[in-house]
Amino acid sequence: MASFRFHQWLTVEVITDDGTVGIGNAALAPSVVKKAVDEWYAPLVIGEDPFDYAYIWEKMYRRTHAWGRKGVGMTAISAIDIAIWDLMGKLVNKPVFKLLGGRTKEKIPVYYSKLYADDVDAMQREAETAYAEGYTAFKSRFGYGPKDGMHGMRENLKRVEALREVLGYDVDLMLESYMGWNLDYTKRMLPKLAKYEPRWLEEPVIADDVEGYIELNAMNIVPISGGEHEFSIIGCKDLINRKAVSVLQYDTNRVGGITAAQKINAIAEAAQIPVIPHAGQMHNYHLTMANVNCPVSEYFPVYDVEVGNELFYYIFEGDAEAEQGYLQLDDNKPGLGISITDKYLEHFEVTE
Ligand SMILES: [Mg+2]
Repeated sequence: MASFRFHQWLTVEVITDDGTVGIGNAALAPSVVKKAVDEWYAPLVIGEDPFDYAYIWEKMYRRTHAWGRKGVGMTAISAIDIAIWDLMGKLVNKPVFKLLGGRTKEKIPVYYSKLYADDVDAMQREAETAYAEGYTAFKSRFGYGPKDGMHGMRENLKRVEALREVLGYDVDLMLESYMGWNLDYTKRMLPKLAKYEPRWLEEPVIADDVEGYIELNAMNIVPISGGEHEFSIIGCKDLINRKAVSVLQYDTNRVGGITAAQKINAIAEAAQIPVIPHAGQMHNYHLTMANVNCPVSEYFPVYDVEVGNELFYYIFEGDAEAEQGYLQLDDNKPGLGISITDKYLEHFEVTE
């Protein structure tokens, strides 16, 4: 996981003439995305009506198409789009999920997303604690890959077995490779993993290896999930139509924001592929609340900053916190329901 750690964050504010502020954000490569926003995207947005969000999205997408449709450009579009949705909610005094379709669930079931590969006892203790807190779904990360050979395979399997030992088989257990495996390694691992009944195996190979995903998913041994590093509506359409994944996990911060996410939700729903947006965060919870085809949310437990996933708790105020394995959105909180906090400001270096 060494390459995964990130300790920077970008927030985008879109302000209307009456002083209302919409907040969006992006987690990866923030200093580069900031440059793209400042130089390219802000001039395309300033002066527009936020309720023309689909037009604004197309304008940002098409004017920068030569370089912006994937990667840094689409991340910038996503951050601005999320801010526009927050803004619209605040302007009409409604939570964002009410603008997206409304409440499809009484509350949102979440899965506990942590359990980074550690020594077996420590992982079992962490899982037991989370189970006692009421979670009924858990995701764990593998710590070993192809370079660790058979020994690493055994170490990977040992941890999955240890987790099932303390959690039993009445709960969902998801397994995550974060693109650290390759096709050959995954094909060898899948039959060994089957007996632990994982709900899914996440991102076994790199995001560009769509053929690899198709081959693995077609093996029908363990459902394959992915999509958090895919961009835009068409990128996700390909994953869905080609049956590359059994569970789609686009990242709203990368895929094109809430505007793109809603269009992808429609394609996935028609194809009967559940969507579970990558990462915690309010914009994902609003999407999940408003879509029947989003059965559960990923949830990063509130924790001291470790890999960087938890940073948003220290930048924003108002994020929903899980209780007994569920979280709730407030019908009366307009927009996304978050504000930027200065409580932890002394721990950050701020670039504006
Ligand atoms: Mg993931």
